Amino acid sequence: MSIMSEPSASGRFGSFGGRYVPETLVPACEELEAAFREAWAEPAFRAELDGLLRDYAGRPSPVTEAKRLSEQLGCRVLLKREDLNHTGSHKINNVLGQALLARRMGKTRLLAETGAGQHGVATATAAALFGMECVVYMGEVDMDRQSLNVFRMRLLGAEVRPALSGSRTLKDAVNEAMRDWVGTVENSHYCLGSALGPHPYPWMVREFHRVIGEESRAQCALLLDGGTPDVIAACVGGGSNAIGIFSGFADTDAELVGVQPAGGASIGHGSPGIVHGMVSYLLQDEWGQVEEALSISAGLDYPGVGPEHSHLEEIGRARYETVTDAEVVDAFLLLSRTEGIIPALEPAHAIAWMSRERASLEGQTVLVCLSGRGDKDVAQMMDVLGADVSTGRGR
Ligand SMILES: *Cc1c(COP(=O)(O)O)cnc(C)c1O
Repeated sequence: MSIMSEPSASGRFGSFGGRYVPETLVPACEELEAAFREAWAEPAFRAELDGLLRDYAGRPSPVTEAKRLSEQLGCRVLLKREDLNHTGSHKINNVLGQALLARRMGKTRLLAETGAGQHGVATATAAALFGMECVVYMGEVDMDRQSLNVFRMRLLGAEVRPALSGSRTLKDAVNEAMRDWVGTVENSHYCLGSALGPHPYPWMVREFHRVIGEESRAQCALLLDGGTPDVIAACVGGGSNAIGIFSGFADTDAELVGVQPAGGASIGHGSPGIVHGMVSYLLQDEWGQVEEALSISAGLDYPGVGPEHSHLEEIGRARYETVTDAEVVDAFLLLSRTEGIIPALEPAHAIAWMSRERASLEGQTVLVCLSGRGDKDVAQMMDVLGADVSTGRGR
């Protein structure tokens, strides 16, 4: 298998992935796989999706040369601006693809889970656009942390249901969404929000985000005289924005770096286990009970990771690093004050890694996937920093 091609027939990337679901969901996964395979090979489907990405989501997103940040860090920083997409993050790429597919399969109801709310908002948006019913599961704790996004989903006509079990965060919302799907597969499509879950999701979601990598490759070639960046850095929750940008550079010499929160470093601190229908690195205790991920960013509070990342780590094609919440807060301010771009807390992880590693990155070109904008996090940062956050550029 060449790097980042199709998974095996059983949905595996090396020893990771697969399809570990209740019997009732096996036909649904098989139906989805067949529908995706057929649609993805069809130029008319691709053209319709490309049209939506262009005219509705605003693609292509630009690559911005971050001049003042580059000066400060001593490396050349390029930002892939997924924050400029409609609804404010990369999530819309995957959601528009899945919504088109759901409609093609004759489904009238979209189900989703959400952490920080970005995937829920994107799904509610697509459901409104296609006139579909929409139910979003969200951990009760996250509903508190991200009340603005809860209201946005409701404005868009979606029903938001609290996940009340376990840690009441993202993993519990995934459990609830899967439970709903078991009983409603006839008319519902589960619009999963990251490159994880049972086959075909990790592969399908990567393909829908491949556009990030393909655009970046062409845009960087223009900026770098046909060359590629030395390093591609992206934050990793489930791993969808990272796998999307990595896929554009898998066949180059570029170093691929995934940045995880210190409190949710499934690659490094986890071990292979089964969660949400897949085998992957997972934070679990000695009894195999899933442990809680803890990070400042609700969007990265996930105890597992997409199986292809586990595979890329195992074969040494990508490496995975961690940063602390305090480093993330500094990076959030750093990008805001050097470039006038308030990032989401998730991609602030990638900025934080680059800032910490500036000595070893000296003189290199680093492409960062700026997966989303920070509007959703401003209220939370007001609590963290205090309303009278210090002004000025020196920090
Ligand atoms: C959801 C989200 C993430 C985390 O998800 P991945 O699947 O790891 O990409 C990262 N950044 C933003 C802005 C998000 O909304």
